[in-house]
Amino acid sequence: MRDNKYLENILWDLWDNNFCDVPRKNLVVIKFGKFSKRQLGSIKLANGRTKIKSLIRKKEDELNVQDDKSITVVTVTRFFQKDVVPEFVIRATIAHELCHYTHGFQSPLEKKFDKPHQGNIINKELAKRGLLEEEKKADKWLKENWLKIVY
Ligand SMILES: [Zn+2]
Repeated sequence: MRDNKYLENILWDLWDNNFCDVPRKNLVVIKFGKFSKRQLGSIKLANGRTKIKSLIRKKEDELNVQDDKSITVVTVTRFFQKDVVPEFVIRATIAHELCHYTHGFQSPLEKKFDKPHQGNIINKELAKRGLLEEEKKADKWLKENWLKIVY
């Protein structure tokens, strides 16, 4: 079964290969959330009520060395645990959230836009990073397959 570690590997792979110019200024964690049908991914700065205790338990050293003590939490739908969902769909979802981080939404980076989905900023960012094709492929797969997975 895909676990949080599996998601973390995808996140760091994307960061190292496609977002390597983006400074990671705080602790960033990733996890499976609820079985959400419509919201496939989200990114939030943790607050006191965010359930990440078990996720950050082994990351205290990592947290201590960060200048910025905020924690960014990326969450993806638990439906992505199913092996029928191709990895490129999960990658595309995480890449989308990384674009938000890059643009300064739910991250300590400078905010570059007024709104997270303003205009075409996400697709432009993905294109710049060589990830737009994968995003389109994921979109197509979701259109054709998502409903039969969640119902
Ligand atoms: Zn978004």
